[in-house]
Formats: sequence, C-alpha cells, structure tokens
Amino acid sequence: KRLILIGPPGSGKGTQSPIIKDEYLLVPLSYGNEKPSCQKGSILDGFPRTVVQAQKLDEMLKKQGSKVDKVLHFVIDDAILEERITGRWIHPSSGRTYHTKFAPPKVPGTDDVTGEPLIQCKDDTAAVLKSRLEAFHKQTESVIDYYSKKSIVANLHAEKPPKEVTSEVEKVLS
Ligand code: ADP
Ligand code: ADP
Repeated sequence: KRLILIGPPGSGKGTQSPIIKDEYLLVPLSYGNEKPSCQKGSILDGFPRTVVQAQKLDEMLKKQGSKVDKVLHFVIDDAILEERITGRWIHPSSGRTYHTKFAPPKVPGTDDVTGEPLIQCKDDTAAVLKSRLEAFHKQTESVIDYYSKKSIVANLHAEKPPKEVTSEVEKVLS
C-alpha cells in the first residue's frame, strides 16, 4: 500500500514515520528507505507539493497498477511550529529526532542510542520556516483537497503529544 504524509514543516512527520510498517510504502518510493536527516525532512515536505505533481504521481502509479491508498494529514496551527522547528535536534546517521523541550535526549546534545552528537539543521530557523509555510499554504494545501475528493485523507491532531499522535496513526493504518 502507498502512503503519503502531508503537513507543514515541524508538524511531526519525521517523528511518526518510523512507526510506519512495511506493508505501507512511503511515497516517493525511492525515498522510502532513506534515513531521516536534514535532507529527509525536506524530502518528506517535498512531494507531491502541487496538484500537478499529485496528478503526475497518480498517472505513474496507475501504470504500475497501483495508487495512493492513504494520505496522513498532520493538522496543526502555524503558531505552534516555530517553537517545534527552532528546538529540533537530529541524529544525522539514524535520523532520530529530538526536541529541547518536547522530546529531550537523556544527555543534552547527545543521541540516546549511540551517544553520538546531535546537530541542528541550518534551515531550522524562524525565517526559513516562514517562507516554507507560505509555500505550504500557497501550493500544498490544495494537494490535500485533491486527495480529499478521493476520500483517502485521514486528519491527525498533530498538535497533541507525540504518543497520542502515534496512537492516531496506528488507528488509521490498522
Ligand atoms: P516534520 O518531519 O514534520 O518536519 P518533526 O517530526 O521533525 O517534523 O518534528 C519537529 C520537531 O518537533 C522535532 O524536534 C520533534 O522532536 C518535535 N515534535 C514532533 N512531534 C511532536 C509532538 N507531537 N509534540 C511536540 N513536539 C513534537
Ligand atoms: P526546502 O524544503 O527548504 O524548500 P528543498 O531541498 O526541499 O528545500 O528544495 C529546494 C528547492 O527546490 C526549493 O526551492 C523548493 O521549493 C524546490 N522543491 C523541492 N522539492 C520540490 C517539489 N517536489 N516540487 C517543486 N519544488 C520543489
């Protein structure tokens, strides 16, 4: 089955993606197995960004005898995102994501599993967030409408704590 995660930067896509099991493939497929990192974050934000891209994706999948089965829409107020983005820390090689306030590592600046250093992405600033959010509202929200018409969108309460969002994702995919 094919799955798309849509939501503004910082809405929690990367945090929830590890719980998505093998029976669901993240679109685009070629990115599905990449570990999240600074780049993966933008890949999850990246496709499809416009309705034209969504249509092209549908055509491509149709040729393969497949389709987008489900779209998880991370619904969240813009006002919450700045604090999420500016507090984000990443373990580059695994893509594990932390937050200084909402998901702190056991030792500050250090990955819980490997003990290796965490990094902040240079684009995780209020200013870059602002322009990404503008693009999201201008282009990508219409992609959600496009999939809504196919009745495959599940709206998640992405402002809730991570574990509650996880339960919602599990419910939708079960
Ligand atoms: P995205 O992949 O959509 O850009 P992330 O999953 O990287 O978003 O989350 C952005 C930041 O917010 C990270 O620092 C992460 O630890 C934190 N975060 C993710 N989900 C939640 C949540 N439900 N509540 C609070 N903070 C969260
Ligand atoms: P960002 O997330 O900061 O926009 P990316 O690395 O995702 O950075 O993209 C770099 C540039 O390519 C940006 O200008 C972005 O608008 C554009 N871009 C990336 N992915 C797509 C896409 N799927 N469709 C259209 N433009 C894209």
